[in-house]
Amino acid sequence: MSDAYNQLLDVTIQHLEDLKAQGVRHVVVAPETLEALAHPPAAEFQISNLKSHATKTAAPIQSARPAVQAAIGSRQIAAAKPLAQPVSKTLAPVAEQEALLALPGESVPTQSQPLDPQAKAAAFAALRERALACLKCEHLASSRKNVVFGVGSIDAQLMFVGEAPGADEDEQGEPFVGKAGQLLTKIIQAMGLQRADVYIGNILKCRPDTPDQSAGNRKPTADEMATCIPYLHEQIDLIGPKVIVALGATAVEGLLGKTIGITKLRGTWKTYRGIPLMPTYHPAYLLRNQAMSEKRKVWEDMLAVMEKLGMPINEKQRNYFLKG
Ligand code: URA
Repeated sequence: MSDAYNQLLDVTIQHLEDLKAQGVRHVVVAPETLEALAHPPAAEFQISNLKSHATKTAAPIQSARPAVQAAIGSRQIAAAKPLAQPVSKTLAPVAEQEALLALPGESVPTQSQPLDPQAKAAAFAALRERALACLKCEHLASSRKNVVFGVGSIDAQLMFVGEAPGADEDEQGEPFVGKAGQLLTKIIQAMGLQRADVYIGNILKCRPDTPDQSAGNRKPTADEMATCIPYLHEQIDLIGPKVIVALGATAVEGLLGKTIGITKLRGTWKTYRGIPLMPTYHPAYLLRNQAMSEKRKVWEDMLAVMEKLGMPINEKQRNYFLKG
């Protein structure tokens, strides 16, 4: 193969690596691009053309199918079938096209259909089993009573993500069951939902240990977050919520990598792999600061979430936590 062709491959791989580093797990690639990659051109090749073409056509797939999404969690990246473009008859089958753009050393998803409900439940159960048996953070594995995987509907349109289990959650093996959790439950109910209608998870599945403290919690370390976050990515990929609510700064940091203060971020829509994400205050903050104005801020964030989901909102709900 020509040097130009090899250079082209290098540039393309680098481009995909860059996208991957930015969190993109799937790209849409035009048939011509795939063909160009599969067949080295005889004539001198314009690398810059293909690179800009790839840039133009490569995009995260916002509604990635669960099976493919599950693969994301396994750190796989592959070319997806072009969404609205006719597939040229001269092209290799999709699986081969996908294999073409797999990064070196990586496997590609073989299933391109949405998971049926049974397969989805099985994939979720398998993920849960893996998390429950996790020993990656030795110090947390030895101090925990329970791994707190998550709770709720795996078909939920709305997902709440918190920081990490506290003592009550560690004891019961369920997220948000302590005081802050009870407040979260009230918020969910004020939205006209039940806990079972949504999915609730955390950045960390184990309670951060506090060997030097007799009480209280500590923020997860960056290492702990990086180690545990793949489980959450996989949970989100399988559930495929329409909206995510990030509760507090650590949840935002874990999901978006942003360390900007939650006061600035809350109430402003962000995106997690194509999914609208609303950062808001952690309910524990509302327990510490009982001002009506702070409750109203969180409530306004929830009203925005309800609107985004097309949920009905009555007058009473609109006016919660307004003075007067
Ligand atoms: N705080 C969290 O962030 N998560 C829980 O599960 C409980 C309290």
